[in-house]
Amino acid sequence: MSTAEELKLSKVEVLKEGSRQLRGSIVEDLCNGTDHVSEDSANLLKHHGTYQQDDRDDRKAKNADGTKKGKSYMFMVRTRVPGGRITAPQLLAHLDLCDNYGNGTIRITTRQGLQLHGVLKENLKASIRGINHVFLTTLAACGDVERNICACPAPIRNNPVRDEMQSLAYRLAEHLKPRSTAYYEIWLKDDEGNQTNVAEFQPVEEPMYGKLYLPRKFKTAIALPDDNCIDIYSNDLGFLAIVEDDKIVGYNVLVGGGMGRTPSAEKTFPALAQKLTFVTPDQVPDIAVAIIKVQRDHGNRVDRKVARMKYLIHNWGLAKFKETVEQYYGQPLPEPHPADVYGVDDHMGWHEQGDGKLFLGVNIENGRIKDEGNLRIKTAIRAVLGKYGMECRLTALQGLILCDIDPADRNDIEQMLREHGIKLAEELTPVRRYAIACPAFPTCGLSITESERVMPELIDQVEIELARHGLLHERISMHMTGCPNGCARPYTPDIGFVGKAVGKYTIFLGGNAEGTRLGFIYKDMIPLEQVVPVLAPLFGSFKADRQPGESFGDYCCRVGVEGLNAIADAVLAKESL
Ligand code: SF4
Repeated sequence: MSTAEELKLSKVEVLKEGSRQLRGSIVEDLCNGTDHVSEDSANLLKHHGTYQQDDRDDRKAKNADGTKKGKSYMFMVRTRVPGGRITAPQLLAHLDLCDNYGNGTIRITTRQGLQLHGVLKENLKASIRGINHVFLTTLAACGDVERNICACPAPIRNNPVRDEMQSLAYRLAEHLKPRSTAYYEIWLKDDEGNQTNVAEFQPVEEPMYGKLYLPRKFKTAIALPDDNCIDIYSNDLGFLAIVEDDKIVGYNVLVGGGMGRTPSAEKTFPALAQKLTFVTPDQVPDIAVAIIKVQRDHGNRVDRKVARMKYLIHNWGLAKFKETVEQYYGQPLPEPHPADVYGVDDHMGWHEQGDGKLFLGVNIENGRIKDEGNLRIKTAIRAVLGKYGMECRLTALQGLILCDIDPADRNDIEQMLREHGIKLAEELTPVRRYAIACPAFPTCGLSITESERVMPELIDQVEIELARHGLLHERISMHMTGCPNGCARPYTPDIGFVGKAVGKYTIFLGGNAEGTRLGFIYKDMIPLEQVVPVLAPLFGSFKADRQPGESFGDYCCRVGVEGLNAIADAVLAKESL
């Protein structure tokens, strides 16, 4: 009996322990002649950056002879892009990969990564090799390890603050990545033993993760007080840069954020991170390792529903958690700096870069890079990057930043985007710019209802309602997910929609675009077509009763759920007269 079995740990823990550093039966499963892999291999594959999925539309569909179609297996392949920084050849390679092996689209994720969707098992290896060929990796993009490290992507040049944050994202990604050579052996060696382009993979143990890796996924992000564009409070670990005289003097360390919850399990909840301490820049790698090791050794490995670090902190209290981190770190930790988040910027539109060049933030609805009808985002990106070859950045609001643009090329690039149906930031309402949605149907196996596929139309309707109240230029952030797991962080914006049943949503209100406050449940089980009618009376009362500078989320938070219900009831009663 393994240690994990003796301790009655969850099935996934037993699997990881016996997996020989994430190998398991993946190789055998990849060659077994079927279109899918076993449940065990699917669980291990997450650590390699890929999820086995099936086309949910096909599950219910029927063949021509009336028989059920069954599952159409496919894989999502996620690329880790620290700080969202990506070169033109790397992005173009992903576009080729999605055409050659995927469903013809790629998705910018809500954590600055990229996803291929619809990859068949027979193409999995070629896809992962293709990503490594351009010096990116899928290793640890998913799974019970440190995931992609997010950092503000704004390409402000000759700026030690932004440079340092970007560089820290890279250094931390390297420092915290798994050391298993399984990834290299399974994906990067061909049958003759040749390897594709790959950064060095040393055959060593897992000094930080150990045999069991972490109890659950672990997310880290780096932000600035005036620009929380990566939503630091929703991460397990956050580093908030403290800037004095244009220099980062240290970081406030935030711990225990996490969005997922299970409505049927009351013990689960979304949580904002809490301020733990302040560290100087050189202390960041060691404090990160100390915190990860505390979660490694004390996180819940019996029940995966409560295995994120937020539950450990909830159970222990922050004081005990801090004491334990101090023991692992080897010295006392000071109080956090008083600075906190107070702003957010989506980095869309034209901006000076600080070196005479410009950058352009392009809003990509739901992060989906595709060609559909007159909107040909994929072709436009191919054309612009093919001609100019600029570095790009991915934002946590699923946008794309084109960097290093000569002012003389501005009109040409604008023209190229417009010719492909892409609107510039100033032509979009703030509500559309700040909206994000998770993929949900048809690819996500956990989705309860639609998200990405219905969000654009929902925004259309919200825009009409906002225009009716003279609020069209108001920044109102809206996030939607197809289930309570919360991949698109639906519990922190002004308005959150969380799939609860087929076609029905829980509506959360009272968060904010800065991501510093959790919303509360305003209404539950609201059919999609009722969402805008439910919100409409509140837009009217917000317009009439808001205080100076108050955002929609601030207003909802001040009035509270009972007050909002009373307002909605009064409006409905008036309308029915
Ligand atoms: Fe899937 Fe739920 Fe995440 Fe959406 S929030 S991608 S439905 S797991």
